Amino acid sequence: MTRRILVVGAGPAGTLLSCYLARRGFQVDVYERRPDPRLLDEDESRSINLGLSARGIRALEDVGLMGTLWPLTVAMRGRAIHLPGGGAPFQPYGAHDGEILHSVLRRDLITTLVDHAEAQAGVSFHFGHRLVDLDREAAAVRLVQEETGAEITVSGDAVIGADGAFSQVRTRMQHGLTADNHQEFLEWGYKELTIPAADDGSARTRLEALHVWPGEDALIVAHPNRDNSLTGTLFLPVERFDEITDPEALFEERFPDALELMPYLAKEYAEHPVGHLVSIRTSHWHYRDRVALIGDACHAVYPFYGQGMNSALEDCTVLDRCLGEHPGDLGAAFAAYQRLRKPHTDVLDELSKQNFVELRDRLRSPLHLARKKADLLLARLLPGRWVPLYTMVSHTTTPYADALARARRQDAILRRAGAGGLAALVAGVVAGAALRARRNRKGR
Ligand code: FAD
Repeated sequence: MTRRILVVGAGPAGTLLSCYLARRGFQVDVYERRPDPRLLDEDESRSINLGLSARGIRALEDVGLMGTLWPLTVAMRGRAIHLPGGGAPFQPYGAHDGEILHSVLRRDLITTLVDHAEAQAGVSFHFGHRLVDLDREAAAVRLVQEETGAEITVSGDAVIGADGAFSQVRTRMQHGLTADNHQEFLEWGYKELTIPAADDGSARTRLEALHVWPGEDALIVAHPNRDNSLTGTLFLPVERFDEITDPEALFEERFPDALELMPYLAKEYAEHPVGHLVSIRTSHWHYRDRVALIGDACHAVYPFYGQGMNSALEDCTVLDRCLGEHPGDLGAAFAAYQRLRKPHTDVLDELSKQNFVELRDRLRSPLHLARKKADLLLARLLPGRWVPLYTMVSHTTTPYADALARARRQDAILRRAGAGGLAALVAGVVAGAALRARRNRKGR
């Protein structure tokens, strides 16, 4: 008999997981509180953009979707770091041309996934349905239809909570049980601001880059869009958003070149809400064979490593693998999924917190830049043997904890080498590479 799985939440995790589950032969119903994004007009569906990297790409490729998605992305080949005195030096993301990120509108990603899940995989989507209660023993959910206020109850063989950082499925699944919950709000929040295309339709600034205006007490990050605009995110200590009555004055003083790029700054600053940033670590991720969590619902991270969505998409691949390894036993599959995945998402949480400090304080530090350059140089000279942490996290699918362990080993070598030793190490590597090249030429 076909087993039925109810997925709550049609974000990146819920929509992708629905494709995987349908492929494994489950009947899948997805319940989402928001309206169908495909039916909203341009204004109603104003969308944030997200940096897609190797882990997310691998997961989307797995369900055959990257071919449709590539044309909807803009390549980000590195960071443009805007300096207070003017100028925006470019730091490539990786040691090789393919090591880049891709900016995609959340709306484009979700609608592509929903279309695919419906048409190719036979998934049923129920938009405008908000979960208000969960019966974990019965794998049943109570939902309110947002338009009519009517309540319905639906049950299946299992419920998957893909309902984001403030997951109601998580709260109700863990209610009355011994459960760990670490929730941390960052004392900084964010507001979205636009860098529109110029009047002639061209981009006002280099398009194929992630733009960063670093600063200890204010930080801006901007991702490019396909229409030559960029979506900027201003990060500030939360209380400062209210204190600032004249954002243009702040920008004039701190980010003068950004002010030139943002003609709607004052209006958008007044109108756009302040977003809050939360990190969640929790356990357990499942209740027997009846309920499991995925994506932000079980591990929300601060956005500074650009890995929240990518790790949520990667979760789907891991859970799918566990379902394949434990056919017919959802409880064993859910337990294996948590065992395999949680140590790595815990490490991602740490890395995302550290990267906030890097973006805010260190990006302009000469020492930090020298260290980054040395890392990239060694990666070029020792391909496959020296891999910077950022490269492992963003451009490979090396599990997060393994990436961190390897980076620590590399750091220890660099520290032991010291500055003079590093120069000798690099010189030695260069000499070795030249020798190998000479031998290869002779051998030919
Ligand atoms: P969500 O995207 O939160 O989706 C959850 C879904 O569940 C939503 O559609 C919601 O409406 C629905 N829902 C919630 N409650 C209910 C309910 N009771 N009933 C029914 N439905 C419900 N990640 C990256 O990888 N790269 C980036 O560049 C990046 N940039 C970011 C920038 C910012 C400013 C922020 C805040 C986050 C960023 N992230 C980024 C993180 C990324 O957005 C999240 O990690 C990702 O969206 C998680 O996906 P999800 O499907 O688990 O949860």
